Amino acid sequence: MAVLVSFDIDGTLEAGDPPGPVTMSMVRKAQAHGCIIGSSSDRPLPVQQAIWDRHRIEVSFISHKQGLPDLKSRFPAEEYYHIGDTELDQQFALEAGFHFLWMDAGYTEPWINGRTDGA
Ligand SMILES: [Mg+2]
Repeated sequence: MAVLVSFDIDGTLEAGDPPGPVTMSMVRKAQAHGCIIGSSSDRPLPVQQAIWDRHRIEVSFISHKQGLPDLKSRFPAEEYYHIGDTELDQQFALEAGFHFLWMDAGYTEPWINGRTDGA
């Protein structure tokens, strides 16, 4: 079964404001590896969509951080990850039963390389 990876945007993705350490190339790699990917950010949904469109990445979901539990019911997966840069990201992720990863741990790409405890 697939692994779902939810990316925060600002402070997490290189396309964010401020830019974060997770590159769009890492996102593409996750997708190529079969991960279900998308964003869960405080940004309005159309703004999130525009960022993905600009980078020509077709995501499976765009959501708010409060929507993480819904993602779990919408997408059956083996593991769920949310990667972000704030304690709020961590809180929403853990409450929803996601693994939480700090943005600067993203380079380990645990959704590809196997589970690590980033919380
Ligand atoms: Mg952020």
